[in-house]
Amino acid sequence: MIERLPTPHWSTSLRIRLWVIAALTILCTVILASLSTWSWYAELRQARSNGEVINEFKELLDASNVLSAERGPANAFMAGPASDQPGLREDWMLARQRTDAAIAAVLGTEVPQELEETLQRQLQHARQLVLATASRPPEDRGYDDVHGAITAMFRAHDAIESIIRHEAARIVAASPELIDMIYKGMMLADLREQAGRLGSYVIAPLVAGEPIRPALMIESQAVRGRLMALWLLLEPLATTLPPAPDGSSYLDRTREEYILKGLALRDRLVQAGHRPHSGPALDPVVFSRLYVKTMRPLEDLRRVMIEQSLQDHDRRVARAQNGMLWAAGLTVAIFLLIVALVISLQRSIFNPLMDASRSIIALAFDQPAPAPARQHHVAEIRLVHSALEVVADKLNERRRMTEELHLLATTDGLTGLLNRRTIDGIGDRTSESQRASDVPHLILADIDHFKHINDRFGHPAGDEVLRELALVLRRTVRATDHVARFGGEEFAVLLEGVSRAEAALVARKLRKAVRAMVVRLPDGRDIRLTVSFGVAGGRGLAWGEIVRRADQALYTAKQAGRDRIRLG
Ligand code: GH3
Ligand code: MG
Ligand code: MG
Repeated sequence: MIERLPTPHWSTSLRIRLWVIAALTILCTVILASLSTWSWYAELRQARSNGEVINEFKELLDASNVLSAERGPANAFMAGPASDQPGLREDWMLARQRTDAAIAAVLGTEVPQELEETLQRQLQHARQLVLATASRPPEDRGYDDVHGAITAMFRAHDAIESIIRHEAARIVAASPELIDMIYKGMMLADLREQAGRLGSYVIAPLVAGEPIRPALMIESQAVRGRLMALWLLLEPLATTLPPAPDGSSYLDRTREEYILKGLALRDRLVQAGHRPHSGPALDPVVFSRLYVKTMRPLEDLRRVMIEQSLQDHDRRVARAQNGMLWAAGLTVAIFLLIVALVISLQRSIFNPLMDASRSIIALAFDQPAPAPARQHHVAEIRLVHSALEVVADKLNERRRMTEELHLLATTDGLTGLLNRRTIDGIGDRTSESQRASDVPHLILADIDHFKHINDRFGHPAGDEVLRELALVLRRTVRATDHVARFGGEEFAVLLEGVSRAEAALVARKLRKAVRAMVVRLPDGRDIRLTVSFGVAGGRGLAWGEIVRRADQALYTAKQAGRDRIRLG
């Protein structure tokens, strides 16, 4: 019996192929997912680092803004009356502190030393000039003093602009996608600065009570032109901004506040200053406050645009995080699905197929096929099981038929004893055996005057007698002895491993049993009978010889008057 199925070669095993394909699919998926996850991770890292860059740049622009804004209190300090000096000085000092704090926050290792030093030097110089001018009595503050200090403040701002340009170039080189934010931020900071400068140009004429000088007029108009150019460039960009918290548009507010009020006020003053005594002189401190107020929307515009860039960046971070999570999640899901598919195929298809193969082999070897534990859920496998059941039924039927045929071929139909051919076969094998335990003895038994029985009681009664006698013979000898119907009313008992005397003893037992036997017919009549026995056998005799001698002995018994035993 083949217990184990031969293991198929790996190249031909569907199961192994499936695992290989699954492994390759998983590998490809993992590579694909790694690429995708990696690109999302790179995007996330880039977005995060951009966030830091945007914040740093925002702080730099804030510093630029507070430096611009310091000019307001500085101008007021230089332009204010003596009575207001302590308050104006305090305002200026506060503005200075704000500037210093903002600059300290942005100046780090990235900014070249000389730019930083230039900024600090220019700022210190400008402040010295402001303080020197403001320390004089108002009537002694000349046009050139005031404007000299203001120009020095412009130079300080030029220094921080150099730093901004340097940082902008560095950022754009590292992250080209930030160019949009950088340009917008720079333009908005510049817009605020130019607006501030435009206001500052009129401070000196107002303080000195003189018309604006032609050289400064030209410079101031150039600044105005630059401011308007910047405004025209920024206007379309500002339309993309969200509305202000009060619902108004930052663009409209800037236009209404600065362009229509602040800039218009400056324009009127310049025209008035150009034509002295054409109207009442405006107090420079009042102008400064009014003008600075109108510039607030410009600052809001810059702040909101930078915030929008930060929000864009936050969205990008969130998108990259989501992308990474999805890529990783889908990879795990695909991996689990493939493994589940293979395991399910293994359980649903391959294992049942292997079981079916084992069942087929078991059936082929006439062994009971292990029945499937339960109804299989896969329809195709259920078909295989049904087919196996059909095969098992057919094989069982065939086995029964074979057994029947075998019985028919080896036994006698009337008595159920072995037939002549079978006992001859056994006799041949036994007589050829060299073992002492196999030495054969044959007892031939022939019913005496059976013809009379037939004649007197009828053929069916004769048959019954034959059947009864067969039973008696079978019961009288051991189960290991062979009993056969040798001919019509002649029987044979083959004994193995017995002596001649023992064989004779068995014959006597048989004779006794036959004599005790009565066959009762359906009509109530009894039949008694006698049998003659011939016994022969022993070591070294061929079966044919044993049969011949036993037959001879039987003949002798008949001759001697029947119902007796003769040894041959
Ligand atoms: P003997 O004592 O010399 O053996 O006399 P006998 O009548 O028994 O011997 P014989 O050979 O003359 O007759 C045998 C008879 O057995 C003849 C035959 O009709 C009968 N016989 C043989 N086979 C069967 C059988 O299957 N059924 C029946 N009822 N009779 C059978
Ligand atoms: Mg006979
Ligand atoms: Mg006879």
